[in-house]
Amino acid sequence: MSAGKPGFTPFKRLVIIGVGLIGSSIARAARKHGLAEEIVAVDRDADVRARVTALGLADRVTGDASKAVVEADHVILCVPVMANGALAAAIGPHLAKGAIVSDVGSVKGSVVRDVAPHLPKGIAFVPAHPVAGTEHSGPEAGFAELFVNRWSILTPPEGTDEAATARIRAFWEAMGANVEIMTPEHHDLVLAITSHVPHLIAYNIVGTAADMEKVTQSEVIKFSAGGFRDFTRIAASDPTMWRDVFLTNKDAVLEMLGRFNEDLLALQRMIRWGDGDGLHELFTRTRTIRRGIIASGQETPAPDFGRRSIPPAPGNVEPEKIR
Ligand code: NAP
Repeated sequence: MSAGKPGFTPFKRLVIIGVGLIGSSIARAARKHGLAEEIVAVDRDADVRARVTALGLADRVTGDASKAVVEADHVILCVPVMANGALAAAIGPHLAKGAIVSDVGSVKGSVVRDVAPHLPKGIAFVPAHPVAGTEHSGPEAGFAELFVNRWSILTPPEGTDEAATARIRAFWEAMGANVEIMTPEHHDLVLAITSHVPHLIAYNIVGTAADMEKVTQSEVIKFSAGGFRDFTRIAASDPTMWRDVFLTNKDAVLEMLGRFNEDLLALQRMIRWGDGDGLHELFTRTRTIRRGIIASGQETPAPDFGRRSIPPAPGNVEPEKIR
């Protein structure tokens, strides 16, 4: 553990439940910046626990979440969105008074609904969503810098202890993230258009290409640099995580898909009727959005589809890409 982040009082015992990409990245970042005196990693899979131990990600590794949370002052649930409710029910009775529980789920409304009822009085719940990730899963995929200059959105339910929210804000900032606070409902609407629908489009276009009979698989792969390649990266994201996202953010995703379909129809008409000016005007507007994302530091102008390579995490076969 490093000497600690100036201005941040380390947690005494940080328990991370689910040591995949996000959980292991938090473990690495917390250790790197000295954000906890003790880090306990919990995973249900014995093989994953052995790998977490070998990677040295935590001071203790266990399969028993209920026992692990006893005396913890910070517990983070890092599991697929729909697994949070059962986990909260299991650990709820064992949480120490004054502990702060958080999560990292990509959907917030359903997590608040599923988790909050299981937490006893005296426990603060400060849900979080780090808007950072890669298409890789598992403890080997994580790296300490994953959250640097990325947003982490906190969605504390009404009445949450403000000191607990401030503590979680400081925790994410100490890992290099920028923090914004909003309601779970607003989070789910914003993320539906910026993350969930784009993933659905990627899954769809890659699925369509895979089903095409007149274009062989080898041609799809050979000529993928024409644009398809970038969709395949997103469509390689974890199936369980994304199944849960679409099932739990159903309303916002369907609302955004409705708008998307209308706009797609308008584009279809422009192509059919040869409306070059219309197409040009739209493509000019969209280019401005891309430039805005680069200017805000959320992307680089590098020609590699704007993706920046960073050194591989131990055990990874290829450099991770930040998205
Ligand atoms: P991951 O690498 O696949 O890891 C998932 C972890 O959850 C694994 O440790 C897995 O255990 C555990 N798990 C799965 N189902 C479980 C269950 N029913 N009960 C208990 N544990 C269970 O996934 P991840 O990318 O870290 O995602 C974790 C969370 O972060 C998700 O809620 C996701 O929405 C959110 N998130 C992901 C990204 C991203 O880009 N990946 C970005 C932001 C937020 P095993 O080891 O046994 O498989």
